[in-house]
Amino acid sequence: MDIDRLKSIVGEDYVREDIADLYIYGSDASVHHAMPQVVVKPGSIEEIREIARYANSEGIAIVARGAGSGMSGHAVPLKGGIVLDMKRMNHILEIKPEDMYCRVEPGVIDDDLNRALKPFGLTFPPSPASSRIATIGGEIGNNASGIRSVKYGATRDYVLGMKVVLADGELVNLGARTRVEAAGYQIHRLMVGSEGTLGIIVEATLKLIPLPKFRCLGVSTFDKLEDAGNAIADIISSGSEPSMLELMDDIAISAVNTTLNLGLPEVEAIIFFEADGKVKEAVDFEIENMKTICEKHNGTITATSYDAKERTKYFSGRKKLFAALSKYKEGYACTSLADDMAVPYSKMAECARKIHDIAEKNGVIMTAYGHCGSGVMHTKILMNPNDKEKWEGAQRAVEEIYNYVDSVGGVTSGEHGIAISKAPAWKKARPDLMKVMSKIKKALDPNNILNPNKLMDAPDNWYTATQIRYDVKK
Ligand SMILES: Cc1cc2nc3c(=O)[nH]c(=O)nc-3n(C[C@H](O)[C@H](O)[C@H](O)COP(=O)(O)OP(=O)(O)OC[C@H]3O[C@@H](n4cnc5c(N)ncnc54)[C@H](O)[C@@H]3O)c2cc1C
Repeated sequence: MDIDRLKSIVGEDYVREDIADLYIYGSDASVHHAMPQVVVKPGSIEEIREIARYANSEGIAIVARGAGSGMSGHAVPLKGGIVLDMKRMNHILEIKPEDMYCRVEPGVIDDDLNRALKPFGLTFPPSPASSRIATIGGEIGNNASGIRSVKYGATRDYVLGMKVVLADGELVNLGARTRVEAAGYQIHRLMVGSEGTLGIIVEATLKLIPLPKFRCLGVSTFDKLEDAGNAIADIISSGSEPSMLELMDDIAISAVNTTLNLGLPEVEAIIFFEADGKVKEAVDFEIENMKTICEKHNGTITATSYDAKERTKYFSGRKKLFAALSKYKEGYACTSLADDMAVPYSKMAECARKIHDIAEKNGVIMTAYGHCGSGVMHTKILMNPNDKEKWEGAQRAVEEIYNYVDSVGGVTSGEHGIAISKAPAWKKARPDLMKVMSKIKKALDPNNILNPNKLMDAPDNWYTATQIRYDVKK
């Protein structure tokens, strides 16, 4: 690779080839690891176009990277090449309250954007739990969503348009600034969730909504996980409109109590429910409805509150859960393997129990928690990551879970995306989709330079075919 050429494009200070940098940029929040040949930090669209032209002519891989918080190996450069760190491009270009949109560079961090929008009474709502670090480019790349997706949806619902540098360096302006557009292929929507495989997003136009005036949170404990799952299904089918509906099982509760000292009751399951809106009576109505349904399913309401401080306490427990699970047991790691499937509401309770049973059978610890109001069931596998037998057990557990999810009409990923970790199960579940996606990829990136070996091109068995970031003799 011609490193001097890259230096001449972005400047010497913005090219990193030190082994320590390459090692760090070889991981994200997943279990995977692979080092790039070089890290380049572009500062402008023109620089990115030039890098793409060079890489395309030489067949060098480019992996766009935001914060590197993807959980399935999204930004791990399996084919080496260039990691394009987008964080220098972090400017909010325009906020247009009268037109309810903003334009941003891809390296803007979600929380920074929402802080800037707050004085206008506006918000960009997808907010994943990682919003403190996640970039808008990464959220678009993964179609991220979060704790309030049950009411507000995912990133795709808020992307009006974008500028994209294609694999050959061409710059295209996609979508619009208006709320609606009925003109041809909606390529900007295709880019959302494409995990850096179809183009490099260099600017995004985002739809904004008003911040709600009132927000109320309720907490219900359950002695039986099944009761909590049934309450969730019932709340949704009752026509209720929660702004958040979260489940935590006993392992998740114990993890946040131990690390964050939250003092939550140590029961089999807790549901956090929230309603928000412009009119307090409407919020009260939703909260009453959810309370009644929880009680009908043997839940005990332990709190309901409009108080921002109290809500933040519970909210932080949920937001910091991943970190808390990492400290669940000395010497154990919290791995994101089968971590975000979605199942029909009626299967929520069964799925949660199944996860526990499958974990026990295979000698690993697994939690069941998540944005269950959207049907998303999160899990994490907690295990000693240096133990070969645990990895084998984890892989059996993952396979069994995905077989179950498929059998009840669920999906491999409801939130975090596919990348490497989830590709084997997803490819098996959706063979028809692979063919169409491969054709699209070939049309937009014929030399396969953009985040290669991901999604449909990811290995069928990444455990044997690639490196992981733990010291285990496979
Ligand atoms: C503690 C924790 C909590 C999390 N909670 C959630 C959650 O609640 N919901 C959720 O959805 N996810 C969650 N995630 C996963 C992850 O944080 C999100 O998917 C996030 O949107 C990724 O943003 P990032 O900037 O880190 O992107 P990266 O991980 O750097 O990249 C993600 C993907 O986007 C591509 N990409 C990045 N920038 C660009 C660009 N400019 N152009 C084209 N492609 C690009 C990359 O190539 C990659 O494929 C969590 C992760 C952690 C560690």
